[in-house]
Amino acid sequence: MQIQAISIPNKRQAALIQIDDLPPKNHEVKLRIDYVGLCGTDLSTFLGKNPLMTYPRIPGHEISGTIVALGDEVPLHRGYDLGRSVTVIPYSHCGSCAACLRGRFHACTYNQTLGVKCDGAMQEFFNIPFEKVLFADGLSAPHLALVEPLTVGFHAVARGRVAPSDTVLILGCGMIGMGAIIGASLRGAKVIAVDLDERKLALAKSFGAAFGLQPGRMTFRKKYWNSPRAWDQMSSWRPWGAPKPIGLPSKRSPTPARWSASEMPCMTLTSRLTWWSKRKWTSWDLAMQAPTTFRP
Ligand SMILES: [Zn+2]
Ligand SMILES: [Zn+2]
Repeated sequence: MQIQAISIPNKRQAALIQIDDLPPKNHEVKLRIDYVGLCGTDLSTFLGKNPLMTYPRIPGHEISGTIVALGDEVPLHRGYDLGRSVTVIPYSHCGSCAACLRGRFHACTYNQTLGVKCDGAMQEFFNIPFEKVLFADGLSAPHLALVEPLTVGFHAVARGRVAPSDTVLILGCGMIGMGAIIGASLRGAKVIAVDLDERKLALAKSFGAAFGLQPGRMTFRKKYWNSPRAWDQMSSWRPWGAPKPIGLPSKRSPTPARWSASEMPCMTLTSRLTWWSKRKWTSWDLAMQAPTTFRP
């Protein structure tokens, strides 16, 4: 039997394809895919700007699915019930590299991210090792697909040990920045959101930001990004705070190793800013034109 999948066969191409519907291997759970988020990473893949991946690729790493079949070695007593709605950890791990041996599976040297290094979940059914399946009973199917992207910002807030007495400046209110805004707000911090797009600032306020700042586009770029000393200037804030970059820095924005220490408050620089620095002002608009969820 064959199922449908969305494939990116090459740069700036997308196609609905037919692939084999494989049974789950012994340690795998078979999911019916309910929702898949469209991430900035997928957009980069589509535009040919993701250096980590190869074509053709089925994208999809923000996953909401329902268990429909189990491999023979899946431990039934751990709750892998048929019909249960779940989400998925989209990162693989080898179990034997230095990171894995420390229990930091998310940092595995040989990670194969779904939809980037191997085919992702933009398909009708998807098999995944049972240990990568997460239960979150009570969340709706669309919300399960939001768990993975929101955890990025939540993780930064946790690393920054944000406390109720903190004022947190979030630069960039894309999906990742929104996660940081929600996470910091839930911890009781006062959040200042900064973005070029007033629609995103309105969203940021509805998610808990106390203030929204919209700097002039050129001013922002000239002053805070294109300046070769910008990152050094930011690090001079250390007497009263510490920046926390999130995302993929461009060549122009080397991330000093000294910023990796966990300090507060946190600041996010999303990959959206990287795009801005390359004059890709329309990335958000491009993303809004595409369907944000895929329902087979
Ligand atoms: Zn993503
Ligand atoms: Zn590993």
